[in-house]
Amino acid sequence: MIDRATVDRIYAAANVVEVVSDFVSLKKKGVNYMACCPFHNEKTPSFVVSPAKGLYKCFGCGKGGNAVTFVMEHERLTYVEALKWVAKKYGIEVEEREETPEEKQRNDDRESMMVVNSWASDYFAKQMYETDEGLSVGRSYFASRGLSDATIKRFGLGYCSESRASRDKDTMTQDALRAGYKEHYLVDTGLTIKRETGGYYDRFCGRVMFPIHSISGRVVAFSGRALASDNRAKYLNSPESIVYSKSHNLYGIYFAKSAIARENHCILVEGNIDVVQLHQKGIENVVAPLGTALTVEQVRLIARFTPNITLLFDGDKAGVKAALKGVDLVLKEGLNVRVVVLPEGEDPDSYARSHTADQIRAYVEENQRDFISFKSSLYAREVERDPIRKGELIEDIVGSIVLIPNKIQRSVFIKECAKIMDVDEQLIVSEVVRRSVGAQYGAEAREFVAREQARQSREEVAKEALTRGPHTAGSSMIELEREITGYLIKYGHLTLDYREGRETVHFNVAESIFDSLEGDEIYFRDERYRALVACYKEHNQELGVGVKVPEHYFIELDNPEASSAAVDILTEGDNHKQSVIWKEHDIASESEEERLGKIIPKAIILYKSKAIEAIISTLNEELAALPEDDDAGLARILEAIAMLNNERNKIAKQIARNIL
Ligand SMILES: [Zn+2]
Repeated sequence: MIDRATVDRIYAAANVVEVVSDFVSLKKKGVNYMACCPFHNEKTPSFVVSPAKGLYKCFGCGKGGNAVTFVMEHERLTYVEALKWVAKKYGIEVEEREETPEEKQRNDDRESMMVVNSWASDYFAKQMYETDEGLSVGRSYFASRGLSDATIKRFGLGYCSESRASRDKDTMTQDALRAGYKEHYLVDTGLTIKRETGGYYDRFCGRVMFPIHSISGRVVAFSGRALASDNRAKYLNSPESIVYSKSHNLYGIYFAKSAIARENHCILVEGNIDVVQLHQKGIENVVAPLGTALTVEQVRLIARFTPNITLLFDGDKAGVKAALKGVDLVLKEGLNVRVVVLPEGEDPDSYARSHTADQIRAYVEENQRDFISFKSSLYAREVERDPIRKGELIEDIVGSIVLIPNKIQRSVFIKECAKIMDVDEQLIVSEVVRRSVGAQYGAEAREFVAREQARQSREEVAKEALTRGPHTAGSSMIELEREITGYLIKYGHLTLDYREGRETVHFNVAESIFDSLEGDEIYFRDERYRALVACYKEHNQELGVGVKVPEHYFIELDNPEASSAAVDILTEGDNHKQSVIWKEHDIASESEEERLGKIIPKAIILYKSKAIEAIISTLNEELAALPEDDDAGLARILEAIAMLNNERNKIAKQIARNIL
């Protein structure tokens, strides 16, 4: 934890132009600076840095934030790490809470294990290049796979000697002990196995070695491939330890991360050798799970760099099975998944060796399918003749659609499924809804269903009444929260006129927002907007009503998500017209004020009606779940519903007056 005072000092010192310039070369343009965006591929610059606002914003991909979140995003650091990075640049001392003795011991252990792993990685490389056994067994194996010395060096590949001379097979362990490394750490990293009879055994003896790098490039574990065709497992990985968890790591992530971010696309293959082979061909956005089925944590690791994942698998049965499992996992995390199956008899390694990078890219491009066409093509022949099989397949596809968290995406796939399987779309919708209500994804799915129903009922009325608002009508609650937060932080200080029927009412934007929502104990659901509202309130109390709260308070909020939401709001619409935000004055024009006087009250009313609607529907659910004899509970809920209904009627009147 870094204390608030230090965070403030860091933000005060950080100059967004200086920080961004450490990574991107900026060109001055007017009061701002421009460059090609480091977060997506582009040829004409749409990445803008505003020193006056202390923010950056890409109008191509939408990324935006302050100096600290730039470092966070660009270097893939955590928020605290990014704060420390900026602190270091400006010579600010960061005071942190002191570690407890246990924490200190654990950190020392971690560090020692990393050091042992790093030593072992160098050792295996030397063994391969500097011993006869290494050259004749290890190096020649990699040569047979067509790997160059440059590739071998890049990935730190090596060989763990079998040491035929020594019956104990403990050459590495003995060398490590002689070099001063403690037995304790050699055993904990799994490099050494202690024999029950005393003495040691090298876990990886006789194997070619693939060091496994963490996202920041440190060796945390190894994967060893057996060469002799005896009974040993083909691949052996380091055991789990305090520095390594196989379900949280991906082979090649350190070497692939910038390519994945740059191309906004990640290719997932099965084996380490596939990763190395494709990298050698110049296709660098490739990683592999570590000998396990893909895990949620691995998918989330990829999601830090891109939402687009392509699974590239062998054409054999095992490959297809692995791909099918992977698909659902990726969908459930809300990412976009495509599948490419290689021609039969090929794996990514063999395919990469016999084709050029362009051919491989073209193959992926032409053969990638979304999960519906992938699944339906798998069973196309069976399904054609067998209606029962077809029903099962639709069930299966619906099972995947249900996992997709995003509503819009879900409806796109419902349409596609209906088309490909040639069935009525409504049928699939109702099947999705039915399955959604099932136990597994209960809460989330029920919310989806409730939302759908709510949308059809009262929302229609409100929409009708409010069609004159520019973007309020038909917005979701979260969208409205964003919109209202925007009015607050941009125009909270303004006093506007609002015509209600024949009367004209003056209102201060901030007061009106706080009065009408918090008066009824309605609070935003989205944490980002709640944080921005709290920040506004804090400074508004200091400055007083009618004084503009400087934008940098929001941009430099000690909360990276809220701060990027603020940047997003404060820069919206800027790409199309020179709006108030980038200009160096803050006075809204008269017509703007008139416009705001109309739309702000509408947004508030609409939000309030939706919030009340949501509370009522929760209460109705509670009512349904109430035990029959709970009279007190019944009375309490009915009373609450009556009160809310009352409020709802008032709002309906307001809406009616508003459009007269
Ligand atoms: Zn961009």
